[in-house]
Amino acid sequence: MGFSGPYVDDPVIALYNIGRRLKFDPHWGPVLDNDVIGCNYRCAHCWVAEEALDAKLNSEFIQKKNRAKVASMRGAAIHSSEDIFRYLMKRSERDGLQMWAFTGGETTLYRGGISSVARLAMKEGVTVGADTNGWLIAKHDDYLDAWEGLQDTLHLYVSIKGTTPGEFERFTAVCGEHYEAPFVAVERLLRRGFEAIPGGVVTNTLATEAELKDNPNPITRLYDRLAMIHPDLPSLLSYHKVSTMVHDQRALSRKMRSRGYTNTKPGLIARELDSYFSSKGNPIVKEEPALLSKAELAKKIIQDLSV
Ligand code: SF4
Repeated sequence: MGFSGPYVDDPVIALYNIGRRLKFDPHWGPVLDNDVIGCNYRCAHCWVAEEALDAKLNSEFIQKKNRAKVASMRGAAIHSSEDIFRYLMKRSERDGLQMWAFTGGETTLYRGGISSVARLAMKEGVTVGADTNGWLIAKHDDYLDAWEGLQDTLHLYVSIKGTTPGEFERFTAVCGEHYEAPFVAVERLLRRGFEAIPGGVVTNTLATEAELKDNPNPITRLYDRLAMIHPDLPSLLSYHKVSTMVHDQRALSRKMRSRGYTNTKPGLIARELDSYFSSKGNPIVKEEPALLSKAELAKKIIQDLSV
């Protein structure tokens, strides 16, 4: 495997963790999280260790991590899709999984590996989820060609990093001119028939209380940009607070402070997001039984965009 191009088409994935966390999703039931190595962004809130983001596969950190996690995958970071599939099938039988989730790190670096695991999973009726910053999908018109046929199996969660070049650059440390990438990726995925959730909005960083007094502000811009893709898409938004599952909480706090995130109120931002989106007639779907689930709404949007 090599990163001679922007992504790898070999049927392999470099893993930082496999089977890191078993969680319960209201829609999918038990889901197992797996973390890939490497990312082209450096988000201020990111809990992934720098060594893993840098993709230094032979670093002591990565070697130790892999040894600690899965005995059968000891001492190596790069694994074939077949090995990953076999491990995840065993876990599915044990834990009743219907979905395997790949996060990271940036999953789209492994176009061939994700495709290959998803094709094997498809035969077993298992769904594969992949978190992405959307950059590669937005920048390469033909990226999704390799995933054709996986529309019912592969579901994407695309992280939105800001609503202006300045917000994007401050948050990701990537040139602000790319700030539209997640929105372009979401639209491209939906038009191609993939369930894509616009998400990853971090309530600790999206806006300050003072910024919310402006009009437009990050929340109104976010709403408008999603509604440009499809009028119902704002309801699919997903947001969260900064994760506390970090390797080095103090390093993360330092990184956030160095980017100027010192005066944020995640609870306020979450309330304002809910309230503004509801006031526009598109309440954010929270997967409650009484509401149309995100999956059903995504299917409706895909149908509308394909005509
Ligand atoms: S895109 Fe995701 S994995 Fe990459 S730095 Fe940002 S949060 Fe971390």
